[in-house]
Amino acid sequence: MLALVKARPEAGLELRDVAIPEIGINDVLIRVHKTGICGTDLHIEAWDPWAAATIKPALVVGHEFVGEVVDIGSNVADLHPGDIVSGEGHVVCGRCRHCRAGRYHLCANTQGLGVNRDGAFAEFVALPVTNVWHHWPGIDQDVMAVFDPFGNAVHTALAFPVLGEDVLVVGAGPIGLMATAVVRHAGARYVVVSEPNAYRRELATRMGATRVTDPRAETLADVQADLQMVEGFDVVLEMSGNAGALRAALSSMAHGGSMAILGIPTAEIPIDVNEIVFKQLTIQGIYGREMYETWYKMSVMLTSGLDIGPAITHRFGFREFAAAFATARAGDSGKVIMDWTS
Ligand code: NAD
Ligand code: ZN
Repeated sequence: MLALVKARPEAGLELRDVAIPEIGINDVLIRVHKTGICGTDLHIEAWDPWAAATIKPALVVGHEFVGEVVDIGSNVADLHPGDIVSGEGHVVCGRCRHCRAGRYHLCANTQGLGVNRDGAFAEFVALPVTNVWHHWPGIDQDVMAVFDPFGNAVHTALAFPVLGEDVLVVGAGPIGLMATAVVRHAGARYVVVSEPNAYRRELATRMGATRVTDPRAETLADVQADLQMVEGFDVVLEMSGNAGALRAALSSMAHGGSMAILGIPTAEIPIDVNEIVFKQLTIQGIYGREMYETWYKMSVMLTSGLDIGPAITHRFGFREFAAAFATARAGDSGKVIMDWTS
């Protein structure tokens, strides 16, 4: 099969012929239809310090996908060839305290698809059946392809109740864009999206932001005055990984407010802890998705009126992977999809 491979410990990816993955008795073999490019894939392609410390070449990269079941192990009873599925990209150990309690998202021994094991930028991918989500009818395949990052968005957006609350989304990358639509769907009052990139601010408006702001042009205090807000933001979704943005967001919060942090900073961030203490803030780190409560909620929302389609902006065939990666890296894009069926 053809696959996008990190072949050597240096920048770049190669489209290579590799063996179709073998499956064990509890595994599922999936013919990949479409994949989404994640920031993680960009780090691996660029071979930055995180990638150099984490990735063991040769590795098939990629973890966001939709495809069709083509083969199942002898222990697999509830999936069949032809089923349309996506994969949860975190493969958990099943044996630790949290796994045994059903809190799989807290497993400390998580292996990442396309990070620690061969991934989905390929014609076929194999996963344990416990990592396979059988899609509900009525959902667009491009949207199915980005269920993994959509799950990050939903897990973060629903970390705290947002009904009637004023929400700040920091960073309108693909995940911030999807989270914007989710908090509107879930009944937030103001949804302010802070993002320096004009293309992404425009997309945020299409996703339902009630106000977008360029953090270089005005402060969050300006925005709050403009909206005549009397309290600060009740809920903040940190989706930028940016130090200055995190500090500004903390200062903009209401007493008793809550912040869910998904963004991954590249260095330590000094913050004023007094702000957390005296405002009695709740800070929640978010990694991945809840297995499989988040997946269930994603499917419910998509089949009851939530539209995340506008967050998907570019589509390429897999042979055009270089152009696809360049588009995702340039930033004037939402989610970038590669088609593996052509
Ligand atoms: P992205 O890099 O496309 O989006 C980040 C956005 O933040 C960009 O649009 C950028 O312009 C914006 N930004 C930069 N400086 C800003 C500032 N000062 N104020 C406001 N916005 C600013 O990434 P993404 O794919 O949307 O992912 C969002 C974040 O979540 C990234 O940091 C990513 O690494 C992280 N992530 C975390 C998990 C997890 O499980 N915790 C999973 C996936 C991604
Ligand atoms: Zn575990």
